[in-house]
This record gives sequence, structure tokens and C-alpha cells, in this order.
Amino acid sequence: MYVGRFAPSPTGPLHAGSLVAALASWLDARAHDGQWLVRIEDIDAPRCVPGADQFILRQLQACHLLPDAAPVWQSRRGALYRQALDRLQASGWAYPCGCSRKDIEAAQTARGSRRARGAELPYPGTCRPENGGLHGRPPRAWRLRTGASNADEASVVSWIDRRLGRQQQDVERAVGDFVLLRADGLWAYQLAVVVDDASQGVTHVVRGEDLADNTPRQILLQRALGLPAPAYLHAPLALAADGHKLSKQNGARALDLSDPLTALQAAAARLDLPPPGRPSGIGESLAHWTAVWRDRWGR
Ligand code: GLU
Repeated sequence: MYVGRFAPSPTGPLHAGSLVAALASWLDARAHDGQWLVRIEDIDAPRCVPGADQFILRQLQACHLLPDAAPVWQSRRGALYRQALDRLQASGWAYPCGCSRKDIEAAQTARGSRRARGAELPYPGTCRPENGGLHGRPPRAWRLRTGASNADEASVVSWIDRRLGRQQQDVERAVGDFVLLRADGLWAYQLAVVVDDASQGVTHVVRGEDLADNTPRQILLQRALGLPAPAYLHAPLALAADGHKLSKQNGARALDLSDPLTALQAAAARLDLPPPGRPSGIGESLAHWTAVWRDRWGR
């Protein structure tokens, strides 16, 4: 049984970029005769815009992208994330971290690590139990241990993306031990997404390519929690006029609800789906693209 999902963060309305991801995940579910779920990822409360969740649901409805079950809100699922963290703590996968951003930067400088422009440096492992733990400081956040001191390869994750092909990342080297529960008390995206995909029975994740480099962290977490890994397909991003990923920051406008078919056609074009011969409406266009998608991706 195929279960897919679209998981928007309600930081604003859907725009042309988020619609590509929504359409891709909907089409993939339909082409597999699967179920399609919508999950509102509103755990990062300070970034959420009040009312954006309901607006997104109305936009999806206007585009005839209708979920097969009632949407869920991550902000109501804290108990599940707590249980997962409890398990990771009990099994030694999670450890408390007392480092501030400044502490981390100082440790990175002391190691001689240099930051490439715009890139994050990996967490240097200061608070790992074998490195002396909290060093007498109070705990601020909880992190996942990405590698074991006795197994060099433990943090190397390989997977096959259905569109991008074979992918590999050494998570310990690329990002280091990553945060599960943030210093401000909020659940980290990586933990929430892994717990929810598993608890909702998601078998296929289809989302934008900008999230591809989160996948190895999520696979490590699935392993640590003993959860199955879904199949992944990272869809192309809509590009802004300047060639960069289209985002709210570079002028993506909210989807025009008065003309959803035009917006859907643009999203379909980004997925290389040819326009239907003579579309007489959204329903017919979606049926046509679903048939093409089914042929293209197989079952
Ligand atoms: N909530 C994330 C976003 O809007 C997507 C998460 C996911 O699909 O895994 O960027």
C-alpha cells in the first residue's frame, strides 16, 4: 500500500514553488493508486504565520488536491516526539548538549575548521559523553550521535533517490551530531518528520529538491529508532527570474486562487508534464498528468 504526503510549513501561503512539490506528491500517490495525506508542519511556532495553515488548505482545495484523510498538525503531536526522544535517550543515541552558538564557533575555530560561505560547520562533538559530556554546564539541547567511536562507517548513509539516483553522505562529517530538541524547547524538524512519516505509515516521500540533503539525517534517525525508511523522490524546484530557488524571500507570490489551473499548469511544466490536449478544467488536466506520471514512473 502506497501512502504519500505533502507537509507544508505554514510560514506563508503556497506559492509556485511549493505547488510543484504538492502536485508532484499528489500525482505520485494517484499514479500508484495510493493515499495522499497533508501534514501541517507548524512546530517552529515563531516562524508560523497565523491563519496560513487554513489558507494553504483552501489553496489545495482550489487546486483539487484533496487529501484522503483529515490533515494533522505537528503542534498537536508533541507527545509522540517526546516518546521518540525518550527512546533515543534510553538507548544512548541522544545526548544533552550545553553549547551555545558561540561555544560551537569557538570549538570550530580551535579545531582550525573554516566555514565556506553560507555553509554550516559540523557540530564538533564537544558534549559527546566520551568527550566529557556537558563540562559542568546546564543542558540546552539534545543531539543525535551520528557516529560511534568504534565504527568509522556508521554515519555514512547511501540511498537511491527515485529522481536523483544514488546519493551518499557522511552525516558525521557533513553536519555532525544534529539537534533533536532545540535550546528554545522546540522540537527539531528532523525528529518530527521522521516520527510522523513512520506513525502515519508514509511509504513514499515526494518533496522539493532543497530538502534532499536532510534525507541522510532522517535515515540515520530511522535506523536509531528502528523505523522503516520510506522511498524518496526529490522533485525539481521552481526557479525565480534570477535563477535561484523560488522562495518567499525572492519574491514568490501567493498562488492566485482565482486562476488555479494556470498555476497548476506551470507546476506541471516544471515536472516536465506536457499540457493536456485541450484542457476543459482542473479535473481533466489532473487526470491527464496522472496518466502520464503513471507511465513515466512505473508502479
Ligand atoms: N515542512 C517542510 C517544508 O515546508 C517540508 C518537509 C518535508 O516534506 O519533509 O519545507
